[in-house]
Amino acid sequence: MLVAALNPCPCGYLTDSKRECHCTPRQVQAYMGKISGPLLDRIDIHLDVPAVPYRELRGQADGTPSVKMRDQVSVARERQAARFSTGRATNARMSHRQVKRFCALDDAGEMLLKQAMQEMGLSARAHDKILRVARTIADLDNSENIAANHLSEAVQYRRLDRNLFA
Ligand SMILES: [Zn+2]
Repeated sequence: MLVAALNPCPCGYLTDSKRECHCTPRQVQAYMGKISGPLLDRIDIHLDVPAVPYRELRGQADGTPSVKMRDQVSVARERQAARFSTGRATNARMSHRQVKRFCALDDAGEMLLKQAMQEMGLSARAHDKILRVARTIADLDNSENIAANHLSEAVQYRRLDRNLFA
């Protein structure tokens, strides 16, 4: 697994609600432009990780507990094992043909994906990635079908594909 992190701008405060960013749009664009598009294209999930306020850092976390998360992952893994019949196959390794077969969308989903592709100018690779990730989100939700909310969550994970910084 590859995990990488980067600042949103040269000073690092562009997406911070508490600190002010003094970078110019041109500086931000030049900074983000240093990352190769084809490289970003190959990363499954792009996520904003905002600074955690001290109070939250010290307080009791009320997110999903690890034990519950492990159960959800186990269920999702079982769904995948049943889907592919061949041992250790996972959604992430689906071929284009498998994506077509196992990531069917309803009309609302088709429309959502088409719109996202056009607005964000996504590549064919990103298209399949969104569907693979959406399939996994649906599996984590123990859902047979990919619903619109699963798909829109997967689309959000392509945020660095978007021309946000132009
Ligand atoms: Zn900045």
